[in-house]
Formats: sequence, C-alpha cells, structure tokens
Amino acid sequence: MIPAGAIAASYLVAAVLFILSLGGLSNQKSARRGNFYGIVGMLLAVGATTLLITGNATGFDSLLEDDATRNAFAGAIGVGALIGGVMAARVGMTSMPELVAILHSFVGLAAVLVGISTYLAPAIPVTEGGEVVHNIEIYLDVFIGAITFTGSILAFLKLRGSVSGKPLTLPGRHFLNLLMVSACVYLSIDFVTAEGHTAVESLLWMTLIACVIGFHMVAAIGGADMPVVVSMLNSYSGWAAAAAGFMLKNDLLIVTGALVGSSGAILSYIMCRAMNRSFVSVILGGFGTDGGGGGPAITREQGEVQTFEVSETVESLKEASDIVIVPGYGMAVAQAQHSLSQVVDFLKEKGKTVRFAIHPVAGRLPGHMNVLLAEANVDYNIVLEMDEINDDLPKADLVLVIGANDIVNPDALEDPASPIAGMPVLEVWKSETVVVMKRSMGTGYAGVQNPLFFKENTRMLFGDAKVVVDQLLTGLRS
Ligand code: NDP
Repeated sequence: MIPAGAIAASYLVAAVLFILSLGGLSNQKSARRGNFYGIVGMLLAVGATTLLITGNATGFDSLLEDDATRNAFAGAIGVGALIGGVMAARVGMTSMPELVAILHSFVGLAAVLVGISTYLAPAIPVTEGGEVVHNIEIYLDVFIGAITFTGSILAFLKLRGSVSGKPLTLPGRHFLNLLMVSACVYLSIDFVTAEGHTAVESLLWMTLIACVIGFHMVAAIGGADMPVVVSMLNSYSGWAAAAAGFMLKNDLLIVTGALVGSSGAILSYIMCRAMNRSFVSVILGGFGTDGGGGGPAITREQGEVQTFEVSETVESLKEASDIVIVPGYGMAVAQAQHSLSQVVDFLKEKGKTVRFAIHPVAGRLPGHMNVLLAEANVDYNIVLEMDEINDDLPKADLVLVIGANDIVNPDALEDPASPIAGMPVLEVWKSETVVVMKRSMGTGYAGVQNPLFFKENTRMLFGDAKVVVDQLLTGLRS
C-alpha cells in the first residue's frame, strides 16, 4: 500500500515538472529538456492516478469494484497507450496540426463523458451544501468539453483539407450564437437548482446545443485564421480539464488544465498579434478564403514571371555575401531541412553570413519551422524571428524562399481587399534578389495569388524543395 501522502507528493512534483516543461519549451535551447520534464511529469501523474484508482493507496477504496471493471480499466490504458504510441511514431511533421486538433477533441469528449457520468453516479460523495457548486462544475465541464469536441473535429477536417476552409457565414449567425448561449444559460438554472440528479434532460440538451455552438464557431472561421483556432481549442481543452479537476476534486487535473488553458490563451494572443487580428474578430469568424492546402491561383493580370535554373541559383549563392533563407510549409512537406542545413554549413564555411527568417505562422503549427531546423541541427543563433530580421532584409544580397507563400505576400501590406490584408509578412522583395523555390504557381494556405512572384528582382526556381536543395548542394560543391 502506498501512503496517501506519497500520491499527493507525486501530484505536486508532476505539477512542478509541467511548469518546468512549459518554461523549457519557450526556448529552442531548452526545448529538449522541457519535453523530458513533461514526459517524466506525465508518467508520474498517470502512475499515481492508476495506484489511486486501483485502491493501492491507503485511505482510498478502489473505484474498480470487480475483476471485469479492473480488466476493462487495464485494457483501456493498454490499448490507449498503444494507439497513442503508434500515432505519435507515425505522424509526419506536416500532419502534426491535425493530430493536435483530433487530440483536443478527445479531451473534449472525455470531459463530456466524465461530466455526465459524474452527475449520474458520483464517484466522490458531494459534501452537504456543496451540491450547487458541484453541479456548476459539472455543467461548465460538459459545456466547454462539448464545444471543444465538435470544434476540434471540424478543425481536424479543415486542416486535413477534407472539408473546405471557406468560412460558413450563415445570415444572422451572431444572433444564432447568442440564442444558443442563452438557451444554455436558461438550462443551467434548471440544472443547478434541481434536487438530487433529476435534471439530466437539461444536461443532455445543453450538451447537444454546445456541440452545435462548437461546430458553428469553427465553421465560421476561414482558412487564414486556422492557426488561432488550433491554439484557441488547445486553450478550451485545458479549461475543460480544469473544470473536470474541480468536479473530481483532483488537484493535479486543476493545475494541468489551468496550465494548458492559460498557455493556449497566451499562444492565441501571440498568434493574433502575429496576424494583426483581434481575438474577438477571429472568434466571430467570417474571415479568410477558401484555403486549406492551396490550389490554382486566382487569376489577376500580374505580368510575366522570370525563372532561374539551379546553376543560376548556385552562381547567385556564390556571389552573395549576406543570405537570408525563408522556410515555409513546402520545406516541411518536402523534408528539405537536412539538405538545407548542409547547404548552410557549406556557405558559412565560405565566410558568408547566412540567417533564417521565421514568420510566426510559417508552416501549419506554431514553431513548425523552428522544430524542423532544430531537428536538422541548424544553429539556433542564426534562426531569427520576423521582428528581428525584417529591418535587415533590404540589406540582404539574396533571399531564398523555400516552400513559403502567404508569409511573403506583399498584398498583405499593399492590398486592403486581400483576404490576408493586415497580416505582417517578411518583406523579402526589399532585398536585392529573391529566389522562390516551389513546384508551381499554385497558391498557399490562404488561396491567394502572390505578386512577389512577378516582381522584377524575383526569380522562380520550380521543383520539389528537397530535390532542388540537393541539386544546389551538388552544384555548390562541384
Ligand atoms: P503556404 O501554405 O502559404 O505556402 C506553401 C507553399 O509551399 C505552397 O504555395 C506550395 O506551392 C509550396 N510547396 C508545397 N509542397 C512543396 C514541395 N514539396 N516543394 C516545394 N514547395 C512546395 O505556407 P507558408 O508557410 O508560407 O504560410 C503558412 C500558411 O498556413 C499561412 O496562411 C497560415 O495562416 C496558415 N496556417 C498556419 C498555421 C500555423 O500554426 N503555423 C496553422 C494553420 C494554417 P506549390 O504547390 O507551387 O509547390
């Protein structure tokens, strides 16, 4: 038997490890350590909770009454761990946002199921006079969980490109949202004040309405705002877990949920700032275009593009002394980061200044490019954020844009009618020469044409990013 104090101590240590983990993840240098703290904290948390549930801690009865329940519990943990392990091992970096979105939906679903079952059959006795508070906890847990559940499923489908990224703007949609939220508030009065466990109908109706709210809210958000949606749902899943923690009187769940909820909220704020959007306008939706993976360009007369061969790009690289590389989603798709890292090493050996310029929403996940470059052992001292490097771009001799599109689109600054108008971008066109490496004239995530490709100092180098970077490396070495 494990003393109950040891379980409480494990929870405390796990909570501290989660905080250290978040601290570590805020910087590329310490990210690996941060991940390690997170893994250890999670093992400790799952281990301690398993001991608690199975009645191996003094002062706590097992919640698993018979062999069949015990077997089901062991089976659930085993199968869950196996599926999670296989998914994590298999997922490519480009599919990571989808995985994150679907995992948020699991948190939402768990919150709903645990909330409803806690109402029907409380595992922990409710203290006298505490019933109203307990019911509020259940109601909030299920409400946030249901919104997170359906919202995350739709975000998953949009990120996969299985459903259109176009915002669904129903007439009177704000009124519809208001009506649904009002209905949930009305049902909460009946639920919270009901004697015993007699208001299950109100709870189920609210669950249904909250599921529609979650779906409708994400449906109204267009392609270009998806980065904010992903971090917003991350935040919601945290608050759902925190509400579940209050409901189950589990301190660790409260702390963990609050950490996820607040860090997700801060990330949403950072993403909004990066895209020059207000959080409220993102939530209200209706912004963005038929995005979600690119496609043929919207036709607008732009002139002729000028192309470059690999050999011409090699010559330009040899001549330039100040080089900036802008990676984007295409670099992730092509997995070109390792070859690129070798190109950078070669150029640095030749005494050239080489730096990476990272846009906050490059790729499909916050920090997407930083992770890939760290994986390829690129020195993080030469990896600069947009704010740090934008002013230096006019001084650069050559900018290599590798599989990026929306984040270098001048229309964001110059065309108020553009769907991405107002989003700060890397102003690469101000450098002496820009070489854009991509496969075609296809659009990026926001689905809009990019006038950068037609500028006088821009050269298009068509081809798969990995193949082209490999050819550049061979060209430079020969
Ligand atoms: P974009 O999606 O704008 O552009 C990527 C470009 O890469 C495409 O135009 C494509 O052109 C090219 N490409 C694709 N595959 C390859 C390949 N194998 N080799 C070479 N090029 C390739 O990406 P950006 O990184 O510029 O911008 C990110 C966009 O994603 C923004 O609109 C952002 O809002 C959105 N977003 C970001 C999220 C985040 O958290 N970071 C989350 C969700 C969305 P072609 O087909 O011609 O090769």
